[in-house]
Amino acid sequence: MQHQYDVIVVGGGISGLRTARDLGRAGKSVLVLEAQDRLGGRVYYDRFADTDKFVEFGGGWFNTAFQPQMTSEIERYSLKIAVNPKPATAFRWLIGGQISNGVSPVPLEYMAEMERGLYETTHAARRIEFGTAWDKQDLADLDVSWERFVKGLSLAAPVEEFFLNWCSSSEPEDTNALDILTWIAGFESSPWRTYAESMIYHFADGTKSLVDALAADSGADIRLDSPVARIEHGKDGVVVTTRSGATFTGAVGVASVPINVWPDVEFVPPLSPLKREVSAEIHPGRTVKLWTVLDNVSEGFSAWGQGQGCNWLFRFDDVPEGDLYVGFSGGYDLDPTNADAIQDAVRVFDPNAKVIKFDAHDWRANEFAKGTWMIRRPGEGLRYHSAIPAKEGDLIFGGSDTSFGWNGWMEGALETGARAAVEALQALDGPPGKV
Ligand SMILES: Cc1cc2nc3c(=O)[nH]c(=O)nc-3n(C[C@H](O)[C@H](O)[C@H](O)COP(=O)(O)OP(=O)(O)OC[C@H]3O[C@@H](n4cnc5c(N)ncnc54)[C@H](O)[C@@H]3O)c2cc1C
Repeated sequence: MQHQYDVIVVGGGISGLRTARDLGRAGKSVLVLEAQDRLGGRVYYDRFADTDKFVEFGGGWFNTAFQPQMTSEIERYSLKIAVNPKPATAFRWLIGGQISNGVSPVPLEYMAEMERGLYETTHAARRIEFGTAWDKQDLADLDVSWERFVKGLSLAAPVEEFFLNWCSSSEPEDTNALDILTWIAGFESSPWRTYAESMIYHFADGTKSLVDALAADSGADIRLDSPVARIEHGKDGVVVTTRSGATFTGAVGVASVPINVWPDVEFVPPLSPLKREVSAEIHPGRTVKLWTVLDNVSEGFSAWGQGQGCNWLFRFDDVPEGDLYVGFSGGYDLDPTNADAIQDAVRVFDPNAKVIKFDAHDWRANEFAKGTWMIRRPGEGLRYHSAIPAKEGDLIFGGSDTSFGWNGWMEGALETGARAAVEALQALDGPPGKV
């Protein structure tokens, strides 16, 4: 059968573009079909409110010391990186309904409990072989909610509350402890590196600089505004149909769309039962990444705690209107368009705070994401981990959501994009070394 393309990649996020780049460099013809009117998917560098300042509404931070795929792309394209321009200096911790200041999140009399909690967490993280499927490891006791894991440590109440607030995009009861522990494992079993040092480095010219570099280097035929409705695949290759009815043929297909939107695509033949089950559960990642200019707060204000709509908030930079802060709602259902709700969320940490401007992208309402970064539900780890990235016939699955280690990170998007390209080359040319 004569195909229009060697490979059709569905989804123009970092993962799909990495696949397209690797295949283009290997001399293959590639079509990328992207549903939205822009590339990048869950990375989205755009104007803050009506100002001249650009911010990351989706993924933005990385750490080159632990994330080799990011490092390699930064070097390859000489991308400029930067550190947070105006870091937080004045901490406000909300624990047990009380606000405290200073560097320690809990009063000093709880430090031994804090130490024990960190030891137990680090110890559990060290059991994980990073990058290997959880169901291939002896981890069944950790395939529980973060809430159950933390409560099982029987920590003193303030310390327990501090640990429960580690979920930045979902409620502790919906979050698989293996997700959090695996990320800690990826940062050499250091919670500090996972939570503090992972949010310092970013692209000086935004994630757009990476997205544009990958797209330009791929040489692919890239079509925006092309939501795919149907992917039919078999021995003769792949036939991909967009919602507008346009049809494209390729020798191999790669699906690089978020797991939460798999149910919206008609796969022919249907996805395997495990893939259907896990995607139908809809992962609970749903934070609102809030950008806001605040007035009437102390210089370098930074807030942490289970509030009412915002769990983490810290100073990032300044704009002519004042200091610019970034925050996360965790699993809280904060309406990113509701000024009163945002004002209330910030005032939990400082009753005098005044929201001057705010902006956020509603990732749950975005029909081509339906959530933020992937968080696995408790009990899902051992049942689905190997099944998520597995090929279905010759159809290949990329995307950060399919990564065993860096799921939920840009690093995972690059890593799975590279893996998908290797799988596509093998499908096209046979295993390496075959003559
Ligand atoms: C608020 C937020 C903050 C984050 N913070 C960080 C961070 O600081 N650091 C970090 O490393 N990571 C972070 N992440 C995660 C990171 O952004 C993602 O893991 C990564 O960008 C995912 O890339 P991807 O290519 O796998 O998927 P996506 O970026 O989701 O790309 C998939 C693409 O498929 C397209 N698509 C969907 N359906 C269809 C269809 N039917 N037809 C055609 N195209 C379709 C989508 O439009 C999208 O462009 C964050 C994510 C969010 C949302």
